[in-house]
Amino acid sequence: MTEITKSKVMELLKKRGFHFKKGFGQNFLFDRNLLKRIVRGAEITPGDSVVEIGPGAGTLTSILTEAGARVLAVEIDTALIPILREILPEEKVTVIQGDILKVDLDQLTREKGLTHPYKIVANLPYYITTPIIMDILEKEYQFEIMVIMVQWEVAERLTSSPGTKDYGAITLSVQYYCESSILFKVPRHLFTPAPEVDSAVLLLKKRAEPAVQVKNREFLFKIVRAAFGQRRKTLLNALGSVQPGLHKEVLLQVLDEAGIDGQRRGETLSLEEFAVLANAWEERKSTL
Ligand code: SAM
Repeated sequence: MTEITKSKVMELLKKRGFHFKKGFGQNFLFDRNLLKRIVRGAEITPGDSVVEIGPGAGTLTSILTEAGARVLAVEIDTALIPILREILPEEKVTVIQGDILKVDLDQLTREKGLTHPYKIVANLPYYITTPIIMDILEKEYQFEIMVIMVQWEVAERLTSSPGTKDYGAITLSVQYYCESSILFKVPRHLFTPAPEVDSAVLLLKKRAEPAVQVKNREFLFKIVRAAFGQRRKTLLNALGSVQPGLHKEVLLQVLDEAGIDGQRRGETLSLEEFAVLANAWEERKSTL
């Protein structure tokens, strides 16, 4: 198919007896200008390797190939696979049926001849937005940037600052690995079918080095999760679960060493402060 238009795709979907599945978060995009803005946000240049999560009916994929990208598209819905293979140019797109949370993206891209680091571009299925982002970050995949459509609330959470209501453990995880910014807002009526919320296109740029240096990354995020697990509690009360049996006086000493007031709440701490605390605590661990 040459240029993909909404009427052509809808006709093909109908012919193949396709029904939108809410359970797979299927809200498709057909607006060419919007799709082009997403692709521009990823600064695609000819020859770029791109992973697309959930290509749906291939509209975004098609614009990615027009910009010269070589695309690996991972789609869970078996009903969409023959449609994608019919619409998209075989020499530029490899369509894989699978669950993005279950594949090894570095291995798959290598097997399919894509170069590293690659870019990730997606209109994400909203029911698993956070697991997908966390999975990609924690597996430390070889991506350089992600340009992803997410619900507006998620975009706000991922780009928020300490002390705001949106600031949470996931904000800090994203900040640790990436610089994040909202590229633009997308009104719900541009999707088919329209979801109940507006969306945003988010840019996550992988840092060359994590934003903070810590002795033990797992331990840093254990502290972060404990601090946000009980948001309304002071650090002194919320962090007890990190090391069961630890006396409050000792925890207070560790917080003192890190220069952090135990009466503060976790949601007021910056990533740098959490890192200082994690390092001070780690150092003391052997003597506690
Ligand atoms: N990219 C298309 C577009 O913009 O029109 C579709 C986007 S739609 C919001 C999300 C897509 O992700 C759907 O095609 C859905 O079937 C697919 N999907 C849902 N869960 C998935 C998973 N775990 N792994 C891969 N694809 C998934």
